[in-house]
Amino acid sequence: MTATASGAPAVAHFRFFTLEVLRTRRLGHSFLRVTFGGESLADFRSGGFDQSLSLFLPPSGAEHTVLPSTDEDTWFTAWRGMPDEERPVMRSYTVREQRRDGTGAVEVDIDFVLHGDSSPASRWAGRASAGRRILAIGPAVAENKSVRFQAPADAGAVWMYADETALPAAAGILERLPADTRVRAWFEVPHEDDRLALAAPADADITWIVRGGDDRERTGRVLDALRSAQAQAQAQAQAQAQTQGVESPYVWLAGEAGTVRAVRRHFVQERSVDRRSVRFTGYWRLGASEEQLLAEAYAGKAPSEDPGSEL
Ligand SMILES: Cc1cc2nc3c(=O)[nH]c(=O)nc-3n(C[C@H](O)[C@H](O)[C@H](O)COP(=O)(O)OP(=O)(O)OC[C@H]3O[C@@H](n4cnc5c(N)ncnc54)[C@H](O)[C@@H]3O)c2cc1C
Repeated sequence: MTATASGAPAVAHFRFFTLEVLRTRRLGHSFLRVTFGGESLADFRSGGFDQSLSLFLPPSGAEHTVLPSTDEDTWFTAWRGMPDEERPVMRSYTVREQRRDGTGAVEVDIDFVLHGDSSPASRWAGRASAGRRILAIGPAVAENKSVRFQAPADAGAVWMYADETALPAAAGILERLPADTRVRAWFEVPHEDDRLALAAPADADITWIVRGGDDRERTGRVLDALRSAQAQAQAQAQAQAQTQGVESPYVWLAGEAGTVRAVRRHFVQERSVDRRSVRFTGYWRLGASEEQLLAEAYAGKAPSEDPGSEL
């Protein structure tokens, strides 16, 4: 707890938690759900929607994550000062769900995309087993800045783009939207069976873009799907404008940084969406590890609990 300018005690929005793997479950070709528990989760407060957190994963060969300090003033310097081969790897993930089990204990689900054995987080998830412990900086209050989806209460329409890394976040958003929200969503996934069942408002119009394992031309394929929907959307918008007024959507975009940038440009330049209504976040970048992205984003400063860049 720290003091605010007014002297009132301020509640720390984020703190360290110990997450213990309870079980894992394969969801689709690319997704592995890891369910965590642990006593410290009693104070965990997910804000839902696209709530993210920072995981600290043990170095290769170690069973649990160990940090010299989890004190909010000293952990960063202590972590950075660790020898490379011992330093836990920090990665951003989404809180897919927080709930209580039959005994009242808190459980947290994180859905990992498995994209190979040579990247630390993907490798760790692929080998996760019950009893393994990792550390996380996560939310201690539900209203925190790692919930990026902030549609105005009266947003009648929400448009979304997510690749597989942002599908857990998109799923969390969809299931919390008011039932009468008009949703248009484009979700890009590697395989057919990554098209997960989603709870969404009844009229949600969801287009799946399946890459089929082919990583080339990913941005082009997404833009093709968006443009082919555009003509139809314009016709609908004209009809709708006569009955319900012009649709001015809140737009949420997340996924590979280059594709997210291109999709944002499409909405702002080709569909005349107000750029202030677009919330966009690069979740990862082709060819760059999260360390490289953090180094660019923070240029030597301590990362906050919110490493997702807004490009
Ligand atoms: C706010 C936020 C929330 C996120 N939520 C989730 C989530 O819920 N689930 C999830 O799976 N990811 C999520 N991500 C993305 C995840 O943090 C990155 O994919 C991260 O790079 C994975 O770490 P790594 O150690 O596996 O790979 P890194 O060591 O960071 O990267 C190594 C190489 O793999 C590439 N790479 C990274 N991710 C992928 C991928 N998915 N497919 C193919 N190549 C990749 C990189 O370009 C790099 O070349 C989120 C990111 C942010 C910022």
